[in-house]
Amino acid sequence: MSIRHHLSDALLIAYAAGNLPEAFGLVVATHVSMCDDCRAQLAAFEAVGGAVLDGDAAVAMSDGALDAVMARLGAPEIIAPPSPQEDFPAALRGYLGGGLAAVKWRNLGMGVRQAILPTSKGAMARLLYIPAGQAVPDHGHRGTELTLVLQGAFRDAVDRFGPGDLEIATEELQHTPVAEAGEACICLAATDAPLRFNAFIPRLLQPLFRI
Ligand SMILES: [Zn+2]
Repeated sequence: MSIRHHLSDALLIAYAAGNLPEAFGLVVATHVSMCDDCRAQLAAFEAVGGAVLDGDAAVAMSDGALDAVMARLGAPEIIAPPSPQEDFPAALRGYLGGGLAAVKWRNLGMGVRQAILPTSKGAMARLLYIPAGQAVPDHGHRGTELTLVLQGAFRDAVDRFGPGDLEIATEELQHTPVAEAGEACICLAATDAPLRFNAFIPRLLQPLFRI
């Protein structure tokens, strides 16, 4: 699998520290299970985090601290890669009670289907099924949206995203993903829906209070 779009360091660090909402954590865990590079990077951050927690805060605060800690720790521990995938990664199958066949899809129209996954509040995770050649219905999003391709591929104004690729979309990004011809595209997407709602209220009050 040749993955070209990866997790950011910020997401990996937040995940290592246990600071991500469950839905975002699920996307990170699923990408990490598909991606050797991010798995190694996560192991490195976890090792640094452990060293800092062990009372090396003074080292951690100084210039070049990361390099110093990394040098002392040596190469990150190699986590065994998962077995070849015939279906969804294990991190995801746990949420579905099975693989692709266990997904309970709901139609969104135009052949697009979704399945909302049971995660805690703070963010929402869903599977999206986009028929070959079909565009995802326009969905404005505030806040952050992570989209991980599990099968097939989509394109938007940014690039092409194939299996294992992750798109990190923020409020500024206007994107209309279109599934490539030939094969349906299945994605795991997480959005911080409550933040989107919270952002709405200041917007509403802005003209009233002229802030
Ligand atoms: Zn990666």
